[in-house]
Amino acid sequence: MEDPGETSDECGQCGLCCKVFGDRITPTVVNLYSWMENGRTDVLRFFSACLNSGRWVNGADLEPEDLGDITIIELRDPVSGEYPAVCPFLHRAGRTRYICSIHTVKPDMCCNYIPWVYGETYFPRCKALCKEGKKSPWSRLPHQDPE
Ligand code: SF4
Ligand code: SF4
Repeated sequence: MEDPGETSDECGQCGLCCKVFGDRITPTVVNLYSWMENGRTDVLRFFSACLNSGRWVNGADLEPEDLGDITIIELRDPVSGEYPAVCPFLHRAGRTRYICSIHTVKPDMCCNYIPWVYGETYFPRCKALCKEGKKSPWSRLPHQDPE
């Protein structure tokens, strides 16, 4: 997902895309390896991986040799094991401003998220769509949220 404000001039840092989609982010194997290499157990612990054997392993306990055996990787609360309601890395930085607390190491899917380009990641509720030059005819369809 687009980090609120850090990677583009267009983003209004409202955090809405992270609130809506951030509970289901999935890192790549390269993301996982990078976090392991850099000792980012603070990030890894929020993910659980299912291995080929059917065994579930918390991300912080993964070994490099496990990476090729992962069949599923999910965001989970490290204490309760439950699915989080929102991305645990989204932090409120002001009354209406939100930032990604792992911006420099966030998953590829967040880095690649562009809500104002029509297609897979198009998000009509993105406030950046309302900015000059970002208006899309799709965002003015009556069934869509006016935000
Ligand atoms: S919804 Fe749009 S403006 Fe809001 S944080 Fe996401 S990219 Fe930025
Ligand atoms: S990791 Fe960062 S950019 Fe990705 S959903 Fe969470 S707060 Fe948003």
